[in-house]
Amino acid sequence: MRKLVFATGNMNKLREIKEILADLDVEVLSMKEAGVDIDIVEDGKTFEENAFIKARAVCKASGHLALADDSGLEVDALGKEPGIYSARYMGEDTSYDIKNQNIIDRLEGVPDEERTARFVCAMAAVFPDGTEKSFVKTMEGRIGYKIAGENGFGYDPIFYLPEYGKTSAEISPEEKNAISHRGKALRALAEYLKERDTF
Ligand code: IMP
Repeated sequence: MRKLVFATGNMNKLREIKEILADLDVEVLSMKEAGVDIDIVEDGKTFEENAFIKARAVCKASGHLALADDSGLEVDALGKEPGIYSARYMGEDTSYDIKNQNIIDRLEGVPDEERTARFVCAMAAVFPDGTEKSFVKTMEGRIGYKIAGENGFGYDPIFYLPEYGKTSAEISPEEKNAISHRGKALRALAEYLKERDTF
């Protein structure tokens, strides 16, 4: 069976991609399963650059098709912060209760229509023959006025979806998958792999 390697240490992301690629005749391996043990410096300036840095390194190390994603939150009123630094914002080990409250505080006095924000996900594929392909997708919303919801992770409890009247931490995982930046980017990539069919 054909193999591909997903460049992540995050088991939730691995499960998600296995589900979406289930009807494709391919075995999805984690870096560990592929025997890839490398440190990758994500020093790109965009989500897409960082996704390619990871996918290229893993393709080179494994010899297989490699997929990688990079994602984060852009808050328009904060000049698109925290952006590619979303995981590192206020320090990698700082809790999301603190990070989320900080963003709400920084938006004090900012009216609804200027609280626009989006989650961005870049999904990159690098093939052993050197072909590269990427998809960048977003989920649009607004920064809420309070932390709400237990589902999801990261900035979900402050990411308000006006059409649901809820944050992305208050909708179900299935609902979020259907509309999320990551879900959309993964499905676009899955479609591309199905059409291409040779890897
Ligand atoms: P990474 O792509 O795994 O490096 O994630 C980057 C960071 O962006 C995460 O640690 C979260 O802070 C944030 N992030 C990305 N996607 C989401 C999401 O769907 N919900 C909440 N936070 C997210």
